[in-house]
Amino acid sequence: MSPVIPERLAFIDRESTGGNPLIDRITEIGVVEVEGDRVSTWSTLVNPERPIPQFIQQLTGIRNEMVEDAPTFTQVAEELAERLQGRLFIAHNARFDYGFVKNEFQRLGQRFRADVLCTVRLSRRLFPEHPRHNLDSLIARHGLQTGDRHRALADADLIWQFWRLLQRDRGEDAVAEAVQQQLKRPSLPPHLDPALLDDLPESPGVYLFYGENNVLLYVGKSVNLRQRVLSHFAADTREYKAMRLTQEVRRIHWQETVGELGALLLESRLVKEGQPLHNRRLRRASDLCSWRLEEVTPGDFRPRLASGEDADFGRAGDLFGLFATQREATNTLRKIADAYELCPAILGLEKPAQPGRPCFAFQVHKCKGACVGKEPIGMHSARLMAALAKLKLDAWAYPGPIGLVERDDFLDMEEVHVVNGWRYLGTARSEAEVHDLLEQSGQARFDMDTYKLLKAHLNKGKIKVRRL
Ligand SMILES: [Zn+2]
Repeated sequence: MSPVIPERLAFIDRESTGGNPLIDRITEIGVVEVEGDRVSTWSTLVNPERPIPQFIQQLTGIRNEMVEDAPTFTQVAEELAERLQGRLFIAHNARFDYGFVKNEFQRLGQRFRADVLCTVRLSRRLFPEHPRHNLDSLIARHGLQTGDRHRALADADLIWQFWRLLQRDRGEDAVAEAVQQQLKRPSLPPHLDPALLDDLPESPGVYLFYGENNVLLYVGKSVNLRQRVLSHFAADTREYKAMRLTQEVRRIHWQETVGELGALLLESRLVKEGQPLHNRRLRRASDLCSWRLEEVTPGDFRPRLASGEDADFGRAGDLFGLFATQREATNTLRKIADAYELCPAILGLEKPAQPGRPCFAFQVHKCKGACVGKEPIGMHSARLMAALAKLKLDAWAYPGPIGLVERDDFLDMEEVHVVNGWRYLGTARSEAEVHDLLEQSGQARFDMDTYKLLKAHLNKGKIKVRRL
């Protein structure tokens, strides 16, 4: 059977005091209701019960004095709910409009839900040849008739115009198929609350799967929580481990972050704290070790294993490599000795040979003979240093703590990841929180995953660094 477009439609736009659906309030709603040939429009200003920022007043033309006597959302909620009841909720960048409406209802203790269709996604799918799909691009591209741009009803009408154009331009079947593809409800394991599908945000963050008796099963991160979580349950997942996890999940919890680094840091911390059953086993910080070069006699440098507290990871500038176990450290050094024809006896990898006797490696031409004085020890040391150079741990390059700043301009939200000596102290959303984190900074331990993560992000140079 070919897909059919739902009968009852509502094209919606809203204006608000800002871009964050969690904090900002609606100032105007416009709806074009469509059912077959019947089309009617409805719009109302809404008193947001707070001042509208100056630049938003300029953008929308909705000024404080205009909404002063307008009804509050509480007063229009019932009528809006009736109008949207049973209709497909169609908006441009729909998750924002839907989020705003949903949160306004939530403030009243009411649950609002609708099937949602996003015309940005629709445009992207049906006009893949065009890179831009914001409302202004659509107006220019398709010659849509603009009214009061940035007023709710005028913008809702633009989406309605675009919708009609789609049917003419791409044909009803293509539109119906694209709509169907968006509305397809992903499947959830039977034990999970279906309301999850409405609540999962499309933002970066970390998610936690819990099983029976609240056992922590798995911690994961994504730049799109919704997509990632649902992909666990996608029907085409045939991998045994994924299927088992899916069957065991009873509850999902998530925490949104502003950016990817925040999600990575939080994930790493939660995995260590929670030891989830299905995550890869994580190394214990206590076993962490590194090679340090010790000058035993002038010019004679030998590797010594530095571990735990005495290593001062991230502050000392003479450490090479980070290893989860001593065994891993030794294996790495052995490989290096082999590749560079260094003497394993001198490196301490095997018992020193009898005085005057070469090591075994020398006999098979894998050692240049530092053990028998054939290679000067100073030369051996210099070659050892060169061989280890690329394993060198970066010492902390700042005089003190720094903040790595991630910002979402759209939501006007900022997160500051506070770091000192490669140690992650925590994430703050305000100056006061930064201050609190710095106060407790003594407790943070050096952690290998965090070090690698931070190093990669700092090297990329894409993240804003703030001295604290
Ligand atoms: Zn040797």
